[in-house]
Amino acid sequence: MSKSPSAHALTPVVCGSGFGFAAHPAATTPTIASAIGFLMPLSRERPSTRCTPLCQLCFTCPVERLVLWDIDRTLVTMAGVGHALLAQALQVTTGVELVHQPELGGKTDRELITTVLTAHGLDAAEPLIERMHAEMAVAAHERTDHMRAVGFALPGASAVLAALATVPGVVQSVVTGNIAPVARLKLAAVDLDRFIDFEIGGYGSESLVRGDLVNLARSRAARKHRTTLSNESVIVIGDTVHDIVGAKFSGAVAIGVATGLNTTADHLHAAGADVVFSSLEDTAAVLAAVLA
Ligand SMILES: [Mg+2]
Repeated sequence: MSKSPSAHALTPVVCGSGFGFAAHPAATTPTIASAIGFLMPLSRERPSTRCTPLCQLCFTCPVERLVLWDIDRTLVTMAGVGHALLAQALQVTTGVELVHQPELGGKTDRELITTVLTAHGLDAAEPLIERMHAEMAVAAHERTDHMRAVGFALPGASAVLAALATVPGVVQSVVTGNIAPVARLKLAAVDLDRFIDFEIGGYGSESLVRGDLVNLARSRAARKHRTTLSNESVIVIGDTVHDIVGAKFSGAVAIGVATGLNTTADHLHAAGADVVFSSLEDTAAVLAAVLA
């Protein structure tokens, strides 16, 4: 019978600059690994080309690029799921049917819930917003099979995520309007969750302002990896003007992908995107932009 790895299991790792310990890739709690990494650091030369994706798990290697992905219409498409989650959450928590359908693209779930409650004559009080968040997570779990059926990764997304995962010094997470459980379920539905460190993401329950989510993800990544992140090292990739504005709010590099429903490349450029792609299909070009 196979045995699941302990949350604290450590794996010896030979780094290009020394020897250390990493949390097992399946571990869920890196605390002890981090502590040992702190007490027994590998060489502090921190050579950028020596650390491997595996030994980065010991959190002693430098983070040279923090890549923060938007999810909907950037990595995946999942027709109708967002509205269904909102409708169920509103119905269960208030007994009100969703009549006023908000435009979802690029907005945080906290903003959407506030808009929906107000549009239906309800008080957008914090306790109700939190119950709506919780019910959206329940609704998403109930639709796991449905999301697998209707969802798919957008062209090039899997290849780019996989390619970046092999680059030393690159850490990938999300800045998304989705609440955290929904973000994880959506990416799992199309088998993209394995590339993402969800622990350091910024999520739609956390602010009305998308730029706040970028700042949250940056601070979480910096704390986890015990480093500082320059503006140039943080890359936000998204399909809406909200993604671009959020990136610039935080001082990060903004890469637009014109795969959104109502957003063109011109819109993304006008919002301040540093680079815009028509899709993620040109893996080499996207990698070059991220690593520039
Ligand atoms: Mg999007």
